[in-house]
Amino acid sequence: MKRPNIVILGAGFGGLITAVNLQKTLAAGDANITLINKHDYHYQTTWLHEPAAGTMNPDQARVYINDIVNPSRVKFVKGIVDRVDTAGKQVMLEDGSVVEYDYVVFGLGGVPETFGIPGLKEHAMTISSLNSVRKIKEHIEYSFAQYKTNGSSDNSFVTIVVGGAGFTGVEFLGEIVNRIPELCKQYDVPREAVRIVNIEAAPTVLPGFDPELTTYAQKWLERKGVEMKLGNGIKGVEPGIVTFGPLKGETTETIKANTIIWTGGVSGSPIIEKSGFEAVRNRVMVEADNRAPGHDNVFIIGDCSAVMDPASNRPYPPTAQIATQQAHNVAKNIAALINGKSTSKFTYESKGTVASLGHNDGIGIVMGKKIFGRNASFMKKVIDNKHFIELKKYGLVLKKGKF
Ligand code: FAD
Ligand code: NAD
Repeated sequence: MKRPNIVILGAGFGGLITAVNLQKTLAAGDANITLINKHDYHYQTTWLHEPAAGTMNPDQARVYINDIVNPSRVKFVKGIVDRVDTAGKQVMLEDGSVVEYDYVVFGLGGVPETFGIPGLKEHAMTISSLNSVRKIKEHIEYSFAQYKTNGSSDNSFVTIVVGGAGFTGVEFLGEIVNRIPELCKQYDVPREAVRIVNIEAAPTVLPGFDPELTTYAQKWLERKGVEMKLGNGIKGVEPGIVTFGPLKGETTETIKANTIIWTGGVSGSPIIEKSGFEAVRNRVMVEADNRAPGHDNVFIIGDCSAVMDPASNRPYPPTAQIATQQAHNVAKNIAALINGKSTSKFTYESKGTVASLGHNDGIGIVMGKKIFGRNASFMKKVIDNKHFIELKKYGLVLKKGKF
């Protein structure tokens, strides 16, 4: 009998853990496993705020795929997925090549959602890939250098505007405020010339999160000099100029800023829509076993998927935590189907949420208990290092882990 082809799209949190689990669960003769990813490395999306601010070397956040998977069991293809033809069971790559599948797993992650706000896509930077965060770091450094070479009279060179105070915005702000003193020293910029401005549409940072923890984060950021413009949404961006104001009102203000970073939300990969799936913001409401409705051999996980939270009757937020748990379920389900068994239902078990505020501080809820400060920071590092354990690469904790 022909060995089934399992094709995994994306080597992020969901895709890579699916591949590692399938390589462990299936015997060599059971199936051909192919993993397709844009780059020959995996990056920890959850760490990207650090290299963006320049507080971590980008290399620490990446691991080469062939150092994780067993190349004799998982064929790695470096390529960009353009579209999936579900009727023909084929994956089309941008270079024109075609990969046939019997089972496909979508783990292509998300892209920044700009809600059609004029100029945002063109003139703001995002924390979305290793390359995008390298650009942010270098742009900030170059802007600090320009402040001096342009006569030290134009503060916009050292003004950084961050749009959005969700977890990505808050974690980035937590890193950049700690880097400012070093940047000022290195580029001979007076601290009082620097402005870090956060524009958040909701009345608080981290809307919807525990109010005590939200207040802690907000006060921490304000103490570090972040100007908070809460209750204000970004309405437009031109090169070096941000227009903002209450989203429901007509009034607007502008800020001149050489660095504009957008962290206002994510949607799923555009490959979802291109492949003909019904979705909201490119997130497919998956069946109980993580399959796409009406597609017996298509699994969708991570930021491309939506799983309903019965408690809130809204989809769970897209996180690495849920992508990882879905990956375990999908690997198990594909192995079951290959072995003629039925699939099992996915149940998400939230272990909590922890966010960093720089290297030594943070906030979080773990097992229903609130944590702050150094305890939260320690817990965040434990969680970050746990990813290497999930990948079954214990040595990486010492080599790339956070301490
Ligand atoms: P990803 O991990 O993003 O991986 C997608 C992969 O697909 C990437 O390797 C990408 O290169 C590849 N790819 C994309 N398009 C193509 C294509 N067309 N062809 C080929 N390959 C492609 N969540 C938490 O649970 N905890 C946290 O602490 C946390 N911190 C975060 C911090 C930041 C700064 C950010 C931005 C997000 C954070 N998240 C966190 C959210 C989390 O990172 C995502 O929900 C998670 O990465 C989603 O996993 P995924 O497998 O769907 O996609
Ligand atoms: P998000 O959608 O969670 O937050 C976006 C923020 O931008 C919201 O606060 C929203 O009110 C604000 N916003 C939207 N439009 C705006 C506008 N026009 N102007 C100003 N503000 C605007 O997005 P995110 O922070 O990128 O997070 C994405 C996902 O990743 C979430 O599910 C999050 O939980 C997860 N994440 C988790 C962690 C963690 O657990 N430590 C860290 C980062 C991200």
